[in-house]
Order: sequence, then C-alpha cells, then structure tokens
Amino acid sequence: MDVVILLGAPGSGKGTVAGRLVAADKTLRHVSSGELLRDAVEHHTAAGDEADAYMKRGELVPDALIARIVADLMAELDGPRALLLDGFPRTVVQAQALDRTIESCGASLAAVVLLEVPDEILVDRIAGRRMCSVCGAGYHVTNLPPRVDGICDACGGALKVRKDDNPETAKNRLAVYRTQTMPLIEFYEARGVLRRVPGTGPIDEIVERARRAL
Ligand code: ADP
Ligand code: ZN
Repeated sequence: MDVVILLGAPGSGKGTVAGRLVAADKTLRHVSSGELLRDAVEHHTAAGDEADAYMKRGELVPDALIARIVADLMAELDGPRALLLDGFPRTVVQAQALDRTIESCGASLAAVVLLEVPDEILVDRIAGRRMCSVCGAGYHVTNLPPRVDGICDACGGALKVRKDDNPETAKNRLAVYRTQTMPLIEFYEARGVLRRVPGTGPIDEIVERARRAL
C-alpha cells in the first residue's frame, strides 16, 4: 500500500481535494484525522473525550493520541492501493510515528502533496465553510455551494458550521499550523518526496494538479 500525505494549512482544501480524488479512483482511500477525531468526540470514546477540549480551542490533540488512532486504522486496512492521509501528520513527532506505522504495515511513503494557499484566502475559506452533519462532505457558501441551500448534495443531510470554524479558533489553528506543522515541509523536502501544488483557482484544476502529483 502506498501512503500519500496531503499537507496544507486549515482551509487549504485538503479534504475537498481528497474527496474528489477518491471519488474518481476507487483504489484510493481517504483518511481525515479531523473526521476521525470528530467521530470519536461524537461517540464519546475515551480518545474522543480527551480530544474534545483541544479541538474546541483550535489546538492540536496530543501526538500519541492521534498517532494511535491512525496506526490502529492502518493496521486494519486491506484493499486500498493507496491511502490519502489528510490532516496527519501535523508535527514532526507524528511524522516519526507515521514512519514506524508505515514500516510495520509494510507500506511505503509515495509522496507528500503540499497545497499552497495564501493566508488571506485561507481566512475567507474557513469563514464560508459548511459541513454535512450526516456524511461530513464539505461545502463553501460561495466557492462550492450545494445545489439546495443548506442541504448536502450527496446525502440530503443538513449542512452546519463546524464548531471550530469561528474566527477566533480559526486564527489559532492557522498559528498552530505555522509553528507546529510547517516544519514538516522541510522534513519531507529533505527526503525528496515533497510536491508543491498551487491550491488556488478552479477546484477542478487544483484536483488535477494534485492527481498528477500522486
Ligand atoms: P483543519 O485542517 O481545517 O484545521 P481538521 O478537520 O483537519 O481541520 O482538524 C480539526 C482539529 O482536529 C484540529 O484543529 C485539531 O484540534 C484536531 N486534529 C486533527 N488532526 C490532528 C493531528 N494530526 N494532530 C493533532 N490534532 C489534530
Ligand atoms: Zn451529506
């Protein structure tokens, strides 16, 4: 199994791009750390109860907690040709944990795709973001509106604003990205696996650029 990491700031479009890539190629599997955590919070698992407070503040959950969730999932997976990791790793410690998981699964790191988006655009994207309360599909009020206002195209579920998409928390998440996640750019660049993809412009074009970078 190949592992592809999608790297980028909150609002850079990792989830949207991953969703499109997977819809077009059934041999891919999308794993979103944020979604895994939101599920855990919603179902009040032990991990979810621990993660909840960090997420509300826009901070990262502890490395060991998310590394364990992803490792457990990867150990169970069989079938996908490639895994698109969206939102994990987010720190160098997590990247090192992922290296060990990849090795123990007999997988290999195929590429790290960095979605590059200027800060002013990130803020606007986060502010307009909506999420399906049933299937988790992502929308944006102006850039990617649903066909019917407030309703998910895919499943008919009601759209909602994510709890941590308020301006204060979003600002904190951007700061956390800069200090804790950006060091991963150099970490993977040094290994020769980093592919930079401009994350602005029409969504279809961004997805196509990302597809070519896989
Ligand atoms: P975004 O990329 O827009 O910030 P995510 O859905 O990826 O949104 O993450 C939402 C929240 O979940 C983060 O702010 C953080 O609290 C938590 N989280 C997700 N992935 C990780 C991770 N790899 N390490 C630590 N915390 C994480
Ligand atoms: Zn839906």
